[in-house]
Parts: sequence; structure tokens; C-alpha cells
Amino acid sequence: MSMFEDIPVDVGVIYEGERIRRKNMQVELGGPKQETKFELVRAKKMDEVEDEKITIIGPDLKDLAEGSSVPFGIYIEIAGKNVEEDLEGVTERRIHEYCNFIEGIMHLNQRYDIWMRLSKKSFKKGLNSFTHIGKVLARLYKSELPFIEKIQITFITDPEKIKEMSKQALEIYEARDAKARGMKDEEVDTFYGCTLCQSFAPTHMCVITPQRYSNCGSISWFDGRASAQVDPKGPVFAIEKGELLDPEKGEFSGINESIKQKTLGAVDKVWMYTGFGYPHTSCGCFEAMAFYIPEVEGYGIVDRGFKGVTVNGLPFSTLADSGAGGRQVDGFHGISIEYMRSPKFMQADGGWDRIVWMPASVKERVKEFMPKEAVVATENEAKTVDELKVFLKEHSHPIVQQWKEAPVEVTPTAEGEEAMEAAAFPVSTATVAAGGFRIIFKNAKIHAEKVIIKRVDKAKR
Ligand code: ZN
Repeated sequence: MSMFEDIPVDVGVIYEGERIRRKNMQVELGGPKQETKFELVRAKKMDEVEDEKITIIGPDLKDLAEGSSVPFGIYIEIAGKNVEEDLEGVTERRIHEYCNFIEGIMHLNQRYDIWMRLSKKSFKKGLNSFTHIGKVLARLYKSELPFIEKIQITFITDPEKIKEMSKQALEIYEARDAKARGMKDEEVDTFYGCTLCQSFAPTHMCVITPQRYSNCGSISWFDGRASAQVDPKGPVFAIEKGELLDPEKGEFSGINESIKQKTLGAVDKVWMYTGFGYPHTSCGCFEAMAFYIPEVEGYGIVDRGFKGVTVNGLPFSTLADSGAGGRQVDGFHGISIEYMRSPKFMQADGGWDRIVWMPASVKERVKEFMPKEAVVATENEAKTVDELKVFLKEHSHPIVQQWKEAPVEVTPTAEGEEAMEAAAFPVSTATVAAGGFRIIFKNAKIHAEKVIIKRVDKAKR
């Protein structure tokens, strides 16, 4: 493509889903080893942005030691006559997609939790400066999202600057999240769907309502609305909610129709407020995983940042892998932290009366939104299921009343950092592009279980 002639590596949709293992990486930016990292998009006035200006604060790629891991920030400023603050969230979410178009770049997660790797192979080909990545992003943004007329991009590897800017970023994320709080799903006629994660999880569609944030925790109902207005045929689109079929579980005819269409029939029914039956599917970039603990008949919650093992002896990566990939798995439910602040949170399962364990750091983030009487153990009160049982009994958790009923069987899989990546890039899925089509092989072993052929935009090829 002439658009990327001056870039030393290839750029295209075929590289989305490319995994870069530790032994093949030149450098790691952000990720689980780094305390501070962020990506942030801000809407600016036309005269505040110098179009396609790329700035690097701290060492550039060529100056970072081979195999090292460094703190990292991406700060993007956009301007245009239709650019407004409500477009920041969805524009920011595209960083993930566009970075992954670059041969030899892997980008996972979002916001305060980004994780990037550059491959040795692409580094040797000449991808040794953030300037190249910046140029690709600027061009993709302007060709894919025409409301962006001017864009400037700053890459930060200086640890002090990252600390300062990530603090600011956290405040901005919080302000965005707070905006939809207090609104009810009953009060709107339109929800929003997001298929940005379909390159990794072809049968996943996020349904974004005022009271259920996207799984990744970075697209609110307002963000969805703004995006669907400027780009209605894009990956974030309006869903007419249709008939309310079950108010408790959260089943809407419009959601069912939309997900059936967008997943080509793989998923045809979704219950929004439960982790059982027809739960909202889990992609790979959810902020946290709700996991059913059959021994106590309650849910544990674990977020991506939790480094230890949870109360059932399994780490986030293993639990995440058990639900990821656009599947509906009973008792494994990918969620955003913001959804935990919603009054609809796991409503059909009993809401907070069904939550029994979470990391202390997560509890701290949501404590203002928990009912006062809620009883939740953390790693400080219960390290094993037996300790959890004692804690729940001692504190008269409402679930204790139900312990006579028979438990439900659930089986998790895989372990370690590899599993953490696998959760974001489900191994059961392969994507290839050919002749302008994107071909996705689902659960392919000897033969493909299903082949999905999608037309790909010219600019993305
Ligand atoms: Zn996702």
C-alpha cells in the first residue's frame, strides 16, 4: 500500500491477532511488569494541534535495551469541527486495533493497563523508532475516522513523565465513567453494540447500555452514541433495544436480533445481567472475570492487575482463559470494573448478595458503590475456599442460607503468562486475509469448523 510506503514494515489487517512471545520480543512497553502505563485521547481545538506531529519523551525504541520492559504512555490529541469530548473514548479504543495492524507490534488491553511488544524481526527490518508507529497511527486515524482533521501523537517512556500523566489520565477515565452513572437502561430506547474485539473473538459483540459498560471498561453508552453518530456503519453501532423479554435477566429482542446478525448466528440470545444461562459473551480484553465458586455458590471476581492466585487457587490468566473468546460459559463472565458500580450488576444472580471474594484493590475501587451490608472477603481474609467458607459463615453472608442446594460444576484450563496472552488472543481462532476478504477459522484443527468471510476496507488491507 502506497499509504505506508515509507514505513519499514508491512501494515494491514492480517497482522491483527499476531502474538509476540517473550523470546521473540525486542522490547516490552507497559504490561504486567510495569506499575504505570496509560493511553489517552483528548479532544482539542483546531489551533492546539499540529497535524501529524510526533513527539517522543524519553528513550526511543532504538535506545531501549534488547529484551527490556519499560513503563509506557501514548497520548493522542485530535481536532476537527465534529470532534467532541464524547468521541475520546472510542477514538482511544482504536489505538488497540491500529497498533495491531503493524507487522511485529502486539497491543493488548486498554487505558491504564496497556501491554505492547515489538518483535525482534520488525526491529531488525527498521521499525526502531516511535516515529514510524506514530505515522501509521496518524494516517489510519485520518483515513478511518474522517471526523479527525488534525492529530498529534506523543509517546512517553520517561518514568517520571508517565507517573505525572497517568495520574491525570486516571482522573479523565473516572470523569468519563461517572457521566453515565445514574442513568437507567429503562430510560433509553437505544443501546450500542461493539465488534472491535471480533478480530480476536469472532463471536463476541459487546452490548453497551447505560448500566452495562463494555467489557474492556473503556466504552460507555455516551461513547457508543457519539461513535455511532459519526460512523454509523463502523464497529460501534446503534441497537434498537426492542421488546423487553425479561426484566430480571435483562433479555431484549433487539439485542438478540443484533447479536445473531453480528455473530453470523453463533450467538442468538443474551441475558445482560447474569453469568448463567445466556450470559453476555466475554472477549479477551475484559477488565475482570467473575468466576463461580461452586463450593460456596457465590462469585469471586478477579481483575487483570491481580498478581497472586485467587481464593480457588487459580490466577487471573487461567480464569480469564476459561471464559474468553466470545463464548457463553456458565459461571465465567468477563466484566468491566464500571459494571460493578451499576445497580444492574449480576442482578439476576442476586447482585452483591452473590459476590463472595475479590482482590482488596478492586474492593477499594468499588467500595462506594457496594451496598453497606455487602460482605466480601479479599485475599487478606481468605486465601482458600475453606477459609472463605469460615469467613462467610462468621459474617452471615446471605449465600450461607442457600448452602443446602446442590453445587454447579465448572472446569477451568491453562496457566501462566502464555495463558494471559491466550485469553486476549483465543488460540481456537485464526484470522487470515486474502483478496480483500478476512477469513476467520474457528476452532480449526484438521478442518475448519466454520469459515467466516468478511469484506475488508481498502485502507485496512
Ligand atoms: Zn473486548
